Amino acid sequence: MQILSTKNTQSNFPAIAVFFIATLFIFTSNLVHAEQVIVYSARIEQLIKPMFDAFTEKTGIQVKYTTDKEGPLLARLQAEGKNTSADMLITTDAGNLWAASQAKIFRPFDSQILKSNIPEHLRDPKNEWFGLSIRARTIIYNTDKVNPEDLSSYEDLADPKWRKRLCLRTSKKIYNQSLVAMMIAEHGEAETERIVKGWVSNLATDPLSDDTRAMEFVAAGRCDLTVVNTYYYGRLMQDNPDLPLGIFWPNQSGENNNGVHVNISGAGLTRYGKNPQAAEQLLEFLSSIQAQKLFADINMEYPVNTNIAPDPIVASWGNFIQNNINLVKAGELQAAAVKLMDRVGYR
Ligand code: FE
Repeated sequence: MQILSTKNTQSNFPAIAVFFIATLFIFTSNLVHAEQVIVYSARIEQLIKPMFDAFTEKTGIQVKYTTDKEGPLLARLQAEGKNTSADMLITTDAGNLWAASQAKIFRPFDSQILKSNIPEHLRDPKNEWFGLSIRARTIIYNTDKVNPEDLSSYEDLADPKWRKRLCLRTSKKIYNQSLVAMMIAEHGEAETERIVKGWVSNLATDPLSDDTRAMEFVAAGRCDLTVVNTYYYGRLMQDNPDLPLGIFWPNQSGENNNGVHVNISGAGLTRYGKNPQAAEQLLEFLSSIQAQKLFADINMEYPVNTNIAPDPIVASWGNFIQNNINLVKAGELQAAAVKLMDRVGYR
């Protein structure tokens, strides 16, 4: 062995070189072939991972993701600019998707698959963002204190008959900003201002921090009704099935029959992503029947793809007509909505 090592050092060199080159080749070819998509998500891991896992299983493409609040994610994408590694942004509320679009984060994706899987009012007219699940913002009332026959619309919540009976979530959260923005799209600013002013004068208590708290106030009899996203109602009732809370679908008929205010969680492809084709494939997959079924089952939301039924609990709340004004309005009119709420003292 001693003799060989001194004697053959030079003749061994090419073999070592070949070994290293081969290793390098295998390593780099793996880098080229290991397809991946990198996602920034304002939705928590448990709400996105099952869809990503299904996608990887189907395509072999890995999905890597970072989760954070929508504000920091948007700021990060803007700071990273062309150097971002993110291929896709997932967030909730059309207002947030619109803001990302305004910040030039997205690139348009003209996809027949997305167009046929997602109803037109739930995606950006410029094809920059796409709704992937629907949340309905509806009326929840105390079943001991309210006869549902007395309920009709968001607009009716301004009627003096609800004086000191209404609870609302704070206007600081985007959900009610989007609701008011969509009302401006429907009624114009002056009429919406009159309505929201009526809400404020009907408040039983200061606006509350979140939807669940608003329902807890209703259940405790501190007010009689409120407006929340359906999945919060689903979660609360799952934990406390005996709470005296009923769900009511407003704006189904009569004077205001423009449908329930819906919003979305959705996604768009980033302008500077490094894996554009794989990201397109993932986005289309997320609208597919397979992924939409997961969306429907995971968070008690409604699938955007109308070929899928909602999960049984969600279905038990009944069918409703949804407002079908394009949700881009929730973004376009957001600033007007915030100012309007401020003017009428809705905190
Ligand atoms: Fe929420």
